Amino acid sequence: MTTPEPIVSVRGLRKRFGDNEVLKGIDLDVRPGEVVVVMGPSGSGKTTLIRCLNLLEEPDTGTVSMCGNQVDCGGRGRSRAAQVREIRRRSAMVFQQFNLFPHLTALQNVMEGPISVRGLRRTEADGLGRRLLALVGLDEKCDCYPATLSGGQKQRVAIARALAMEPQVILFDEPTSALDPELHAEVLQVIRDLAGNGMTMVIVTHETAFARDVADRVVFMDGGNVIEEAPPQRFFTAPAHPRVQAFLRLVG
Ligand code: ADP
Repeated sequence: MTTPEPIVSVRGLRKRFGDNEVLKGIDLDVRPGEVVVVMGPSGSGKTTLIRCLNLLEEPDTGTVSMCGNQVDCGGRGRSRAAQVREIRRRSAMVFQQFNLFPHLTALQNVMEGPISVRGLRRTEADGLGRRLLALVGLDEKCDCYPATLSGGQKQRVAIARALAMEPQVILFDEPTSALDPELHAEVLQVIRDLAGNGMTMVIVTHETAFARDVADRVVFMDGGNVIEEAPPQRFFTAPAHPRVQAFLRLVG
């Protein structure tokens, strides 16, 4: 069987903030249907990497390709704006802090992108929003405002909102780290279900049990570099790099 072409491919990504070089030349491929979990110590560049994948953060150099749209970072090609737009349109991001619109209900939050970006009619977006809120177990919360929802419910609305854009890739930036521990499971279960349905995902997380369970591959970052990349069975039982061994001893 031939390996499918990557849906996301980055080469030589570098990013600095002032004197701080945060990404030091990252190469990464993600294949259709693959779940890649990014782990590593705090400050190692995980969030910056995931934000660079959909160009929310502009890398200084390197290339980002998604679904056949390639952007040479640091350059000014004529077709560049269109490529960036395509990459953003084909990917969705779920943030630590949910980033819901506080003045819109759960349903309106989910409908917003399909109407304003995808051009759906209000009735179509309403139907889609209700279906997706049901999918994440929130059919009874359509008319609730974010302030009245628990953190786990807010994050599930954020996931429904991401799905409403019909993305080919979903990027998760520590989706449970702002939640109380007892609310982690409900969010992780929704992500597990998406993995079971073949959604391509890149997930930054510290949840080792979840990573073992859901990842096809774990990528470990340290000091702006990917220092280990392995299927979870190997990553968690026989990591090659001493830094990964030390990290895993620490997080248990
Ligand atoms: P991680 O997700 O692994 O904790 P981050 O990608 O958030 O790491 O951060 C890596 C480094 O980049 C940190 O030193 C952080 O302070 C710095 N950094 C991240 N974003 C910015 C920014 N917008 N401006 C300045 N420094 C930043």
